Amino acid sequence: MKVYKFGGASVRNAAGVRNLKYIVEDQMGGLFIVVSAMGKTTNSLERVVDGFMAGDRDDATEEFGRIEEYHNSIIEELEMAVPAAVKKLYGEVRDVLAHEKPVESEFERWYDRIVSYGELISTTIISEFLNASGVANRWVDMRRALVTDDRFKYANVDMERSEKTLRQAVAGDIEVFVGQGFIGGTLSGETTTLGREGSDYSAAVVASILDADSVSIWKDVMGVLNADPKIFPESTFIPELTYLDAVELAFSGAQIIHPKTIKPLQNKNIPLHVRPFGDKHAPGSVIRGEISVPIEVPILILKRGQVLMQIRPRDYSFVLEERMGEIFGVLEKYNVKVNLVQTSAVNMSLSIDRTRRVEELVVALEGAGFFVTCDWGMELLTIRGYTMAYLERYGRGEDLFLVQRTRKIMRLVRRETT
Ligand code: ASP
Ligand code: MG
Repeated sequence: MKVYKFGGASVRNAAGVRNLKYIVEDQMGGLFIVVSAMGKTTNSLERVVDGFMAGDRDDATEEFGRIEEYHNSIIEELEMAVPAAVKKLYGEVRDVLAHEKPVESEFERWYDRIVSYGELISTTIISEFLNASGVANRWVDMRRALVTDDRFKYANVDMERSEKTLRQAVAGDIEVFVGQGFIGGTLSGETTTLGREGSDYSAAVVASILDADSVSIWKDVMGVLNADPKIFPESTFIPELTYLDAVELAFSGAQIIHPKTIKPLQNKNIPLHVRPFGDKHAPGSVIRGEISVPIEVPILILKRGQVLMQIRPRDYSFVLEERMGEIFGVLEKYNVKVNLVQTSAVNMSLSIDRTRRVEELVVALEGAGFFVTCDWGMELLTIRGYTMAYLERYGRGEDLFLVQRTRKIMRLVRRETT
């Protein structure tokens, strides 16, 4: 069994769906296809949820109408009639929007219930299209096949329970399966989602449970590059990476794969290929346990949208170390993601994601007896495997606020460049 994952950008139009078919049609042996919502549908569905939660039924329904139109135009271009199963899904959302009365405290639950339709609709269209064009397949309902906890919006997959349900879903003579990325369901049958961009993670979980030979993520890039070519013109292709390389890359903000993807694969030593959607014969990059050629170029990862926060106790009579646990407790409470930490005896500097919780966090820290200052509009650049030339080039300048380096990795916080 192989697992192929196609993201929203790849299937954003009819040409993309046809290309998906072209990629899978001559695949021999078992194939499990994991697909995201088409194009920007998840963002649109988030707006539907916002309207619905705010009590604007008309706005929410109108926004959903645009989602229907978008999918219908793709279906039409694929020269199909709108499948009954797709109409049924549309109807389910419309029913919710017209009749249900949400309460704010249940926001995450409603979010999952509604936003999951992006993947339900995309996979239904793709499964029907493949069946109609000679690629016999079974549509898999991941709300049943992947059992999760009830942490709505950020659900965790229960691997043990899912083993049974997923294996059941793929039992029989069929060789090709089409399932939704990003979604699962609780034991009691409620729909959950696994966090934005979670389809890569779904693909990894499926591969791990089914003991797949490999996973391929089809993307609009050649494979993994050492830097985003839109930001760093000197970027080059990396043919092979270890799981550890990939985790570090994902953690530092490289947008190649979702950070949670690696662990399930590493546990079973399943290779992960990142392959170009536009060229099915190109090898792409492979991520696995052992590689034959170590990465020789420095890897540059830029994470924008940072706040550099300085924290120090108002009372100098104690050293900061004694209160670190407390500080991290507050950070966790406000769900703030910390990307870099640097401390001295009386001062702690943090680079954190800029979210709307940051201001509340500052108030809470002040309340707990700390002085807090923030520099907004910062970015974090990580250079893995840097050389002296990189140190010279990036390690100085007025806009540089903080530098941290080990022998291998250099990280710096600087004013946002764009
Ligand atoms: N459709 C979901 C999202 O846009 C999941 C994914 O694309 O991986 O976040
Ligand atoms: Mg997506």
